[in-house]
Amino acid sequence: MPKLLERLIRPEIRNLDTYQVPDATGLIKLDAMENPYIWPEGLRHEWLEALRAVHLNRYPDPQGSELRVVLRASMGIPDTMGLLLGNGSDELIQMSALAVAQPGRGMLSVDPGFVMYRMIALFAGMEYVGVPLLAGDFSLDLPALLTALAREQPVLVFLAYPNNPTGNRFDADAVVRIIEAAPGLVVVDEAYAPFTDHSFLPRLGEWPNLVVMRTLSKMGLAGLRLGYLAGPTEILAEIDKTRLPYNTDVLTQVSAAFALRHREVLDEQTRWIRAERSRLFTDLSGLDGVYPYPSETNFILLRVPAGRASEIFESLKRGGVLVKNLAGTQPLLEDCLRVTVGRPEENDAFFAALESAI
Ligand SMILES: *Cc1c(COP(=O)(O)O)cnc(C)c1O
Repeated sequence: MPKLLERLIRPEIRNLDTYQVPDATGLIKLDAMENPYIWPEGLRHEWLEALRAVHLNRYPDPQGSELRVVLRASMGIPDTMGLLLGNGSDELIQMSALAVAQPGRGMLSVDPGFVMYRMIALFAGMEYVGVPLLAGDFSLDLPALLTALAREQPVLVFLAYPNNPTGNRFDADAVVRIIEAAPGLVVVDEAYAPFTDHSFLPRLGEWPNLVVMRTLSKMGLAGLRLGYLAGPTEILAEIDKTRLPYNTDVLTQVSAAFALRHREVLDEQTRWIRAERSRLFTDLSGLDGVYPYPSETNFILLRVPAGRASEIFESLKRGGVLVKNLAGTQPLLEDCLRVTVGRPEENDAFFAALESAI
C-alpha cells in the first residue's frame, strides 16, 4: 500500500496534513470567527416557508440570478462590475488560481496571512511566496513587497483587508502601491468587511487588475457557504470558466437571498459584535502579561507570556473555552492565541478562564 500511494499521490499532497477542525463539543466555541447569534424564531419560520417552495429534484439556477440581484443591491456592488458566486470564498480562491496557474507564474501574499492562499497555490501547482509582515504591528513591509513583486512577477496576489489571523487592516495607500506594482491580478479579500469601515469595493474600476472578494461567512452565515468576487467583467468571465456547474446549491441560493432581504438582522448582530470587541479589547488590555492587538475583525489576536501559548490554550479548554492556538504555525505568532468575539456571557467566561490561566 505505501508503495502504491507513493506512485499515486503527488509528494506535496502526501506531505500535507488533512485540514483539522477541532471538536468543540461542550465547549464555548470561539475558534472559527463565527457569528454567535442565531435568528429570531419568527424569521426562522419565514425562512422555512421560503425553503418549502424549493424543488430539490431540479438542478439549481446555474447563475444564481435571483440571489445576484439581492446581493448587488445589499452589498452596493457597482452596476458596471461583474459578480461571481462561489461555494464559500475558499472556492473563489481556488477558481482564481486554476484560471491563472502556469509554470513559473506564482502566487504572492503576506505571512502571517490566511492559510488557504498557500494551500490552494499548492493544490493548483503554483509557487507561493509569503512576504513577512513587520513584527510589532503586523503592518505591510512595503519595500519588501515591492521587491518581491519585481523579482517574482506573481500572476496572483492576495491581501486580506483586514488580515486574518492578525486582525489589523493594512494601510490603504500601501495596498494601492501593491495593486499598481503587481504584474498580475490583485484580490483584496474583504472577508471581515462587516467589522471595518474601510473597503476597496467602491474603488473597483480604478485599476484594471483589482478584484474584491467577500463572503457571507463572517457576517453570520458560515453554514451556507457563499462567497463572491466583484470586479472587471472580462476578468471574471475568464475565472468563471473554471467554476464547476451548479457550485452554489439551491438551498444556499434561496437562504442567502432570504437572509439578505432581512439584512437589518445581520447588521444589528454586527453592531453587537463590534461593541463586544471593544469591551473585550479594553478588558484584555488591563490584564497583566497579555497584549491584545487592535482589530477591525470579529476576533482579537493576543500575545501571552513567552513560551506559554499552548499551556494557556489547554487551560482555557479545560475551563470550557475553545480558542485558536497559533503557537507553532508561524514564527511571528509563537506566543499568540486568537479569540473570536462571542456573546457577552461567552466573552466573560473566556476572560475569566484566561485570567485564571495567566
Ligand atoms: C474565513 C476567511 C475566508 C473564507 O471564508 P469562506 O467564505 O467561509 O470560505 C477567506 N478569507 C479570509 C481572510 C478569511 O478569514
